[in-house]
Amino acid sequence: MDSNEISVQGDLLKYLESEGYLQDLATTGAKYLQAILEMRSKGLLGPALCFRPEINLTKLKTMSVPLWRMCVEQPALAERLLQQLTMYILAEFLGGRQLFSEFDCEQIFTPLRLSLEADDLEKESLQKNSKQQLVLIKGVLSSYVSPSKYVRSCVTRCRNGECPGAQLKRRPGSWFKGRLCFYCKTEELEMPEERDVGEEVLVTILPLQGLDTAVGGKTSAIQIIFKDDLSAGLTIGSTIQVLCRPAMLQRAPNLTLEACSRVTTELSLSQTKMIPLTFHVEEFYSRYENSPWATVAALAMHFGRDMLPYGCLFNVRMNMILSLASQGSIRPLPLLVLGQENVLASRIMESAAKLSYRSLIHGCQNTISGVARKWEDNRENHCVEAGSLVLASEGVCLVGDWTGLKNEAKTEFKSAIEKGFATVKLPNKPLEFPMKASVWTHCSQLDKKMLKPVIE
Ligand SMILES: [Zn+2]
Repeated sequence: MDSNEISVQGDLLKYLESEGYLQDLATTGAKYLQAILEMRSKGLLGPALCFRPEINLTKLKTMSVPLWRMCVEQPALAERLLQQLTMYILAEFLGGRQLFSEFDCEQIFTPLRLSLEADDLEKESLQKNSKQQLVLIKGVLSSYVSPSKYVRSCVTRCRNGECPGAQLKRRPGSWFKGRLCFYCKTEELEMPEERDVGEEVLVTILPLQGLDTAVGGKTSAIQIIFKDDLSAGLTIGSTIQVLCRPAMLQRAPNLTLEACSRVTTELSLSQTKMIPLTFHVEEFYSRYENSPWATVAALAMHFGRDMLPYGCLFNVRMNMILSLASQGSIRPLPLLVLGQENVLASRIMESAAKLSYRSLIHGCQNTISGVARKWEDNRENHCVEAGSLVLASEGVCLVGDWTGLKNEAKTEFKSAIEKGFATVKLPNKPLEFPMKASVWTHCSQLDKKMLKPVIE
């Protein structure tokens, strides 16, 4: 260990102390050693200790730049350091030295929990995507697989009693049948009662810009594994920011990341879009300074001003601004535009929708509310995928020409708007999502019979 590493270790100790984690470790560590003693008397190795202090990167940076850099650039190394430090404290300060002589680090589990303060979120340093580095992923949660168990560590021994491998040993990950002893190549045995099990959820995140096109979304999706306490309460359609590291799992697909923390800052409040004002708005504003209506009307005329003459399709433009303004409310306003100018309506809607927090063009290959399907061969697990309405939450779902939709699709859109929620059918129970998207559609056939249910 070089002097640099020693100083980083000292910094970690100092950080844990300043946050009160050393005190926590002393309390839980003492209980843990007691539990281990009892298990040992029964001939078992005993449970793994889980110590997971949360490390606030913003705060850490003010205390130790080398340690901060290690957490950001080599999270696996920082985790190992935390593990060794925990082990050292248990052995040297809590009287566990006797127990630890045969003990190895796998008995201690220290998943890295990292957090960031809101101001630090935009920092460039976390955006570079290197193989080992911590990355900040922002986007919409578009699918998840229902929670499943995973094996954090297992205890094995060699079948051959004479072999040095016959001693119980905890290993990271799960055991597989047919694994051979390192010393004598005899088959190993697992002690299933000593298995350390956690819960995980596999999630897909779409970057916000991935929503803009109907097909492009899938290609830019990112898979993230959320483990243990991080796996609870994930809902599709919600905006999420996650600090991630590359997942160290063989079974995971290549591009899977592992979440180190969830940052719950609401994006919608912080993200404001700007439009440059033209001469017309300024003129309007100065002429009718006391009329908010005039200003709103002038703003509405900005939508699609590069393709439509000033004053044209005024009602459409005005209603789009009303619908945009209603976003974030319990019932955001849907919009149905009637008229002969289908192409123009569609283009002006696309242009205005870009001003909303999210916008999505619904394509016939997408589901409307969402879908649940079986996950691989597992009978109990399901993958729940968000449809257009759920993905467009707090934004605009562009449906295009209403007459071009199939009847089932029309019914599903109308039902979601009327009921105020979108429904995904799971095998045993429906999942309901509050309807937070504004549906925008247009129609050139003024068939009153067809339109009646929409207008009501
Ligand atoms: Zn052996």
